[in-house]
Amino acid sequence: MAEAKAAPNIGDRIDSYCGRCKMMLAHTVETIENGKIKKCHCNTCGAQHAYRPKAPKKAGVPSALEPSDYDKLMKSQDADKARKYATSDKFQPTELINHATFGLGIVLTCKESNKIEVLFSDGAKTLVHCR
Ligand SMILES: [Zn+2]
Repeated sequence: MAEAKAAPNIGDRIDSYCGRCKMMLAHTVETIENGKIKKCHCNTCGAQHAYRPKAPKKAGVPSALEPSDYDKLMKSQDADKARKYATSDKFQPTELINHATFGLGIVLTCKESNKIEVLFSDGAKTLVHCR
């Protein structure tokens, strides 16, 4: 019989997502069922809730797109409306751009202050903007 390692105990300090604080925070285990943490309370705001080991995913995040989605995405785009890519311009997610080397691409996300991730036919690339 292999011993279950680090079985949770009531009163343990664990990290959970707090729906009230809206972030991952230290929590205290309150109830355990079949070796799994059921309920805990937030050490920060005191709210009691189900144990959530991970922060919920935001709906419709463009960064979840795969390069294979490129064709699907391009179908709904009007290539004539693509903006010419220039490092000095500012681009927004979902915008269609025309890059001198990579061709047509769709802006997925803005990274940091002056970087964008753009999906081209051969995959996602990070470009600079707002220079
Ligand atoms: Zn909280």
